[in-house]
Amino acid sequence: MSKVLILAEHDKGALKKVTLNTLAFARQYVAKFGGSYDFAVLGHNVAGVAEALRSYGAGVVHLVDHADLAHPIASAWAKVLADLAKSIGADIVVGPASTTGKDVLPRVAVRLGAGMASEIVSLTDGGAFRRPMWAGNLMGDVKITTANKVISVRASAFDAAEATGGQSPVTAFASDAGLATARVKFVSFDGVQSTRPDLTEAAVVVAGGRGLKDKFGAVTEPLADVLGAAIGASRAAVDDGFAPNDYQIGQTGKVVAPQLYFAIAISGAVQHLAGMKNSKVIVAINKNPDEPIFKVADYGLVADAFVAVPELTAQIKTLRG
Ligand SMILES: Cc1cc2nc3c(=O)[nH]c(=O)nc-3n(C[C@H](O)[C@H](O)[C@H](O)COP(=O)(O)OP(=O)(O)OC[C@H]3O[C@@H](n4cnc5c(N)ncnc54)[C@H](O)[C@@H]3O)c2cc1C
Repeated sequence: MSKVLILAEHDKGALKKVTLNTLAFARQYVAKFGGSYDFAVLGHNVAGVAEALRSYGAGVVHLVDHADLAHPIASAWAKVLADLAKSIGADIVVGPASTTGKDVLPRVAVRLGAGMASEIVSLTDGGAFRRPMWAGNLMGDVKITTANKVISVRASAFDAAEATGGQSPVTAFASDAGLATARVKFVSFDGVQSTRPDLTEAAVVVAGGRGLKDKFGAVTEPLADVLGAAIGASRAAVDDGFAPNDYQIGQTGKVVAPQLYFAIAISGAVQHLAGMKNSKVIVAINKNPDEPIFKVADYGLVADAFVAVPELTAQIKTLRG
């Protein structure tokens, strides 16, 4: 029997979908090994997040509300999460392999003396944690031999869990976060402001590659506007200065799995595929029919993107009235 503690991720008081993807993994784990799961909600003025999680079947939603936790400073969050895990006897702590999760969870593993497996995409029949290696060219099956375990979950590999109804209790956990933050102070957060959906949570992603050159925005933005999509890019488009850094998708960028992914003037290098090949439907538009992107595409259009994408955008606009 296991006790799973799930780190809930939120943004300014709004629950993030990656938490529900992580929950899907936790439910599979509990179904296999028995036991139960709790949520940990850390932050300041985040009672609403705890409330939103009450109908997801947790034993308890633990709320750690403290001014020093207002920003996810990893040293503070890790200390509180590890203290909470110890206090409730959780033997496995899981969270999304997001920017926050990647920062916090390894520190939790150190504090708990736990083995860690990161970017997990499934549980094997034998109970090992499966994770991609070598840009997704290999899958590694990891067995953790320590009593305590810490897992980061690749959210795009799991469909968001549904609510089960019910009303889990919310319990406050007292934290001494002030001590943990003594050496690290929050100064400012230089976030990118955008009216578009978050790239890692969007249902539709329009991604452009180096082939779009300095027309990157002129080609991708109108299509993204009609579809309500997020915009992404290959690393070559970013490196050449056609797209901003936070657009990058792939092995060294973001990992996405939207319902619909447009790869426009992207060749389909293995490092790019590592970040998008789990998308439900992939549409490739490229003027060279021999590019590897067509091997993973559900729909392929061999065409000049500067002509085809504006035409496609106009057609969608007309269809949508
Ligand atoms: C360690 C490492 C990590 C990496 N991490 C990443 C990563 O995270 N993400 C990533 O994307 N890459 C990554 N790369 C780089 C990767 O190997 C490729 O170089 C990169 O993905 C290529 O980007 P691209 O497809 O935009 O450019 P290119 O390979 O140059 O392809 C441009 C494409 O545009 C097409 N094209 C040109 N003009 C037109 C037109 N008018 N209409 C239609 N099509 C047109 C061409 O046919 C071509 O297919 C990494 C590489 C390394 C070594």
